Amino acid sequence: MIHDYAIVGSGPAGAMAARKLEELGANYIILDRSEFPRNKPCAGVLSPKIHSLLDIPEDIIERPLKGYRVFGPSKDVVESSFPEPGCIVQRDKFDEFLIKDLKNSVVKNHIFEIEDMDDHYLLKGRSGDVEAKYVIGAEGTASVARRVCDTQIDKIAISAQYEFSLDEDMVDDRIGNWFEVYYLMEYGYGWISPMKGGVKVGIGILSDRKPDIWGMIELFINNPLVAPKIDEGTLLRKEAHSIPMSGPLSTLSSGRILLTGDAGGFVYPGTGEGIYYAMRSGQIAAEITFEHMGNNDIDLAKAYDEKLEAAGLLGLRDVGFIEENLASPEKADKYVKRLKFLASRS
Ligand SMILES: Cc1cc2nc3c(=O)[nH]c(=O)nc-3n(C[C@H](O)[C@H](O)[C@H](O)COP(=O)(O)OP(=O)(O)OC[C@H]3O[C@@H](n4cnc5c(N)ncnc54)[C@H](O)[C@@H]3O)c2cc1C
Repeated sequence: MIHDYAIVGSGPAGAMAARKLEELGANYIILDRSEFPRNKPCAGVLSPKIHSLLDIPEDIIERPLKGYRVFGPSKDVVESSFPEPGCIVQRDKFDEFLIKDLKNSVVKNHIFEIEDMDDHYLLKGRSGDVEAKYVIGAEGTASVARRVCDTQIDKIAISAQYEFSLDEDMVDDRIGNWFEVYYLMEYGYGWISPMKGGVKVGIGILSDRKPDIWGMIELFINNPLVAPKIDEGTLLRKEAHSIPMSGPLSTLSSGRILLTGDAGGFVYPGTGEGIYYAMRSGQIAAEITFEHMGNNDIDLAKAYDEKLEAAGLLGLRDVGFIEENLASPEKADKYVKRLKFLASRS
């Protein structure tokens, strides 16, 4: 059977593409190499923009989120409050929530190659082949669909994250409902994300610096600003992953294949925020491929770019953010001072 649409990956990008295709009454299949619920290394921070996409049930919210607290190398601290609260989630619960009401359950299959058969695509999977007219690539940073689009993410951060359990009152007193970002290391940054009865502490550094991430995260958790916040915490989990750092790729499609989420580089380099952008790009890819199915005269690549631009997603192409602002303690200091000035005026 040739499906109209195959979505590869059922994280936030793929799940939202599936929800949109379902709403439009389309015939689709959604695939993932993992069994759900599955963990995804992530701080779980959702800015208030998320509320424009969906209502999140209380029981999957770890904490409401007031805003960002940014620390600079010269001990400057800037609090930047959201106009309305965001929230913090655990990805296993959040991602399962996104797919749980889909009429088509996620099919477990690890896709390793996609072949163009002219009128459709052949997706070769470890659990069998799948055929579809359109492919939505939503498999994260190691995307198979991106290989077919003959493009790559040229700036990636390598990230390490520790999860600690910590007394709830201590989390409240020491961090509260703020996402803390620390611009203390060259070509990257660290963070503390408060959870329910615990915290996540992580770092992300540009891969071309060849960082020793496990050594650097140890330095980070022992930094005098960070160590008191996790004192008496119990280490539960260590994890590593990559984060695209140059914003959406200049090539986001090939034929009837569109890239969404991390596969297409939809992450804000200043904070590593990617969940909202993954979800929004997934929705847009679904809408635009559906329109194309009804009218083949549409230039799919151009229409996708235009919709992304209209939704503000191409503004993420801030390719030089890390080099410009975080290449040295002096630059980071200057950047945090500028944030402080802007915060004082708002
Ligand atoms: C340590 C860390 C902390 C982060 N913190 C935040 C944060 O606080 N807030 C935020 O907004 N963003 C954060 N991000 C970024 C965010 O996690 C990503 O931008 C977001 O998960 C992208 O969603 P996605 O759906 O594109 O990809 P993913 O969430 O990576 O989902 C991809 C899915 O595809 C599946 N898959 C992969 N390959 C295949 C294949 N070949 N075949 C089939 N299935 C496949 C995977 O199993 C997975 O389920 C963080 C990232 C990292 C690494």
